[in-house]
Amino acid sequence: MDGLMQDVPLTIDLIARRAMQVGADLEVVSVEPAGVDRRTWTEIGERVLRLCTVLDEIGVAPGGRVGTFAWNGHRHLELYFAVPCSGRVLHAANVRLHRDQVEYAIRHAEDQILFVDASLTGTLAPLRDRLAVRDVVVMDDGAEVDGAFADCPRYEELLAAAEPAEDFARAAENDAASVCFTSGTTGNPQAVVYSHRSIVLHAMGALMVDSHSVRRGDVVLPLTPMFHVNCWGLPYSSALAPAKLVFAGSDTSPEAVARLIESERATVLAGIPTFWVQMADVFAEGGYDLSSVQRILCGGAEAAPSLIARYLERGIDFLHAWGMTEMSPSGTAVWHRSGEDPPAEGAQGVPVPGVELRLVADEGSVLPWDGQSTGELEARGPWIARAYLDPDDDSNATRFHDGWLRTGDVARIAPDGTVTIVDRTKDLVKSGGEWISSLELERALVAHTEVAEAAVIAFPHPRWGERPAAFVVPASGSEPSPEELKEFLQGAVASWWVPDVIEIVAELPRTGVGKHDKRRLRAEHASRLAASVEART
Ligand code: ADP
Repeated sequence: MDGLMQDVPLTIDLIARRAMQVGADLEVVSVEPAGVDRRTWTEIGERVLRLCTVLDEIGVAPGGRVGTFAWNGHRHLELYFAVPCSGRVLHAANVRLHRDQVEYAIRHAEDQILFVDASLTGTLAPLRDRLAVRDVVVMDDGAEVDGAFADCPRYEELLAAAEPAEDFARAAENDAASVCFTSGTTGNPQAVVYSHRSIVLHAMGALMVDSHSVRRGDVVLPLTPMFHVNCWGLPYSSALAPAKLVFAGSDTSPEAVARLIESERATVLAGIPTFWVQMADVFAEGGYDLSSVQRILCGGAEAAPSLIARYLERGIDFLHAWGMTEMSPSGTAVWHRSGEDPPAEGAQGVPVPGVELRLVADEGSVLPWDGQSTGELEARGPWIARAYLDPDDDSNATRFHDGWLRTGDVARIAPDGTVTIVDRTKDLVKSGGEWISSLELERALVAHTEVAEAAVIAFPHPRWGERPAAFVVPASGSEPSPEELKEFLQGAVASWWVPDVIEIVAELPRTGVGKHDKRRLRAEHASRLAASVEART
């Protein structure tokens, strides 16, 4: 027997219509070189309808890829809707990558047209002749356009000349909506292909109180870029709520963000832990009125309990979330509430509703949730990838099996479903045949009051195979010594886990999305460290 409910497709136009209909008095605010741009969700919707016509006129075929090279801003948001709603596929390229990687991503995603912020035309200029796209459209954000793109059509002119499309809906729910590359922290970036259905379900999931908890009346300020995992889906969940949405543009320095929080009265902020470490000092200095902030969404890497505590003390609730590009990104989450005790130790929370997890041992058996057994986390759900874009990618066979995604993260799970990430498989240190968790060492180091950030890598060792080395950024005004930190670790972890080398550094290398770049740390230091051990033995 069939159910007798309406078969309304889960396509992104559903979100666009809602934002337009019930967002008439809610703004989308964008910081641009030209100044601050303000439009209501209804006005954004009208522009999206005209942009659908522009895409028809430019002649991008159904399913064709449309690239962006842009900061967080309202034109980028308009493309987030117009491209998939009109049956095309969006690819937001990472503007912080090296130009060879940008060229690779644009070629690999097969972008036909590229929409570029005027303020980024200079960055893209050296690639002008290597871009495999048919056309480039410049988005006028008030910045000067580099000469290499002077002849390109202009977004605002195209929009002004276009008639609005009759409606947004041209896609089926399982059609591709967007392509996002993983940030490549452990390997080469891989392309994940989101569907309309996965995006709509993820956005609905994000409105749940135990997940991102985005709600009508919020003022959402994402610090996560729109080229990273669809900006964690926040443009879509904010449209669905709908909530006022604030885009910071190119300047995401803590001071600029503080000014924006103050002027727009932001209630919800979202970003990775390294950002919250810097931002905590701005909160502490008290130079800005940041009293509007109610909640912080933090994910992408582990948030230390000491970091979480700094926000709880200020009356701000803190979401610690785990996820990945392949998971749109929501996987697990835990809210730490102000007024409650800060967490004693780092844990990534329980699976968000809609996501199923299991722990699998090396030999393939499924492990119990006993808080002890460690294995690789596998995930399944309607917003989790089942393959990468490139059918010839070998990872398709290794990462996806039996309908589950192998996450590449090692974890343990408590009987109540609380997940604790132990490490990424590629970051584990194999010493004398036993594993050392780089993440647990980092956790132990940042528990020291004089440590702001820590990254631990493996380096080759003649006797043990590998040994850990730690790179530590001191807390502002502190000067911890390596000896003092080693002593501190003696009490916190097994003595054979204590890194052979601890180096104090001013800053850690970052990936294109701002995470600690351990690949680069390994490339720059592992052989030097190995050589110094060889010399001593
Ligand atoms: P990349 O793997 O290239 O960094 P992603 O941005 O998709 O690309 O990152 C996903 C990975 O980030 C996860 O597999 C996990 O290792 C790490 N991660 C994300 N959130 C957390 C968290 N809260 N705690 C620990 N690790 C996290």
